[in-house]
Amino acid sequence: MDSKNEAMVRSAYALAEKAHTNQKRKSGEAYIDHPLHTAMNLAKIGLGARTITAGILHDVPEDTDVTIEEIEKKFGKEIAALVDGVTKLGKIKLRGTKEENYLENLRKMFLAMAADIRVVLIKLADRLHNMETLGSLPPEKQERIARETLEIYAPIANRLGIGDIKARLEDLAFQYLEPKNYEYIIKLSATEQEQRKKYIKTVVAELKKELGKEGIRVVDVFGRAKHIYSLFQKLKKHDMNIDKIYDLVGVRIIVPEIVNCYETLGIVHKKYRPLVGRIKDYISLPKPNGYQSIHTTIFGPEGNFLEIQIRTKKMDDEAEFGIAAHWIYSENKRSFKDMLFRKKTKVPDQELVWIKQLREWQNGLGKDDQEFMEGLKIDFFKNHIFAFTPMGDIIDLPEEATPIDFAYRVHSEIGDRAVGAKVNGHIVTLDYKVKNGEIIEILTSKDHKNPSRDWLRFVKTSNAKAHIRKFMKKEGMI
Ligand code: MN
Repeated sequence: MDSKNEAMVRSAYALAEKAHTNQKRKSGEAYIDHPLHTAMNLAKIGLGARTITAGILHDVPEDTDVTIEEIEKKFGKEIAALVDGVTKLGKIKLRGTKEENYLENLRKMFLAMAADIRVVLIKLADRLHNMETLGSLPPEKQERIARETLEIYAPIANRLGIGDIKARLEDLAFQYLEPKNYEYIIKLSATEQEQRKKYIKTVVAELKKELGKEGIRVVDVFGRAKHIYSLFQKLKKHDMNIDKIYDLVGVRIIVPEIVNCYETLGIVHKKYRPLVGRIKDYISLPKPNGYQSIHTTIFGPEGNFLEIQIRTKKMDDEAEFGIAAHWIYSENKRSFKDMLFRKKTKVPDQELVWIKQLREWQNGLGKDDQEFMEGLKIDFFKNHIFAFTPMGDIIDLPEEATPIDFAYRVHSEIGDRAVGAKVNGHIVTLDYKVKNGEIIEILTSKDHKNPSRDWLRFVKTSNAKAHIRKFMKKEGMI
């Protein structure tokens, strides 16, 4: 951080400390402890000075006499907008049914994100610290907050690919929601892990030797434990039988380049026999949130199963820090990157489309921190609309897209069979221009397909155009 940014962060801290004077957290700590940890959580996932500054100030307008106008005067429009965004996102509460609330809040979060993703990241960092200090609240509050965390915040962290925050939120929430199961899993994995620690050490040593012999440059090889909540989820699937869980502990191998991942896989399989059907290549076929890695389960020494994950440093950082890592890699950590990758790695073809677009768009910007941070305001999204299916799935559309574009984006059959559309429950015409945040329901015909030439006049996406033309050709209409 340069001296100008450091001065900004320090000045925010001074303001927040003064504004929150005499306020205490329920835990008895001085209030400033909370925004400070929020800011530290943001720094940990690699965010820059402006986001950290806004993180320190995030509770100031709501809980103190200092107004958003004063923040704007002192720190500028951008930081004021971030703080205001966090305040407005406000206290998300669960009312009504579980599902309704989850969807409603997910929508809210995504719309806030469309304006500026950093607002959502600050909210996640804020929630993480609140979860870390949840013990000092009364039990009924603990339960509500833990439930919100598990049902809203952790899935959003997951959607943004921030595995590190997702795992920590889930484990903390699990501890409060199902204390008995939590204790059980902790004990279970502790005894299991004690036994396996030595074992892992052996495997790591063997692998290092083998990879060294084959001339693979290894960035890191280490043992890792599955996080508590995901282990519990897995156990439930397997009748709570821990012997059926092959990735309770595992080994992760970090190598410089993608090509080394496949070389390493070959070497691992030469040394240890793989378990059939357990080789997963998420490098060629990334998970929907962009996750990339190779997984394989092997018969280790003494015939024990062991999961081995192979990935590049960049993939590892992206798995832990998600969208934040994309920023780190596209911008200010260039020298760090050069250190790790002798050559430039190829940008993977399949990843979250909008992250990819975001990155491409950011690559066009200057490398200066100022411009970079302004870029994060995601003006990029101004030509994008997020609409929702009645089930809460998010459909990304260009500006002025119509229900027909939406229908074809969901599924070509739905497009072909569309006869009408409802927006937020009201019937609209098929050339209606969809707006951000609207819930679109497509009415379809069971009996026949009916794309018409008319549709070509108003659809916006090439996807919809292609499907309509294809249908007309087949029917001999063109
Ligand atoms: Mn807060």
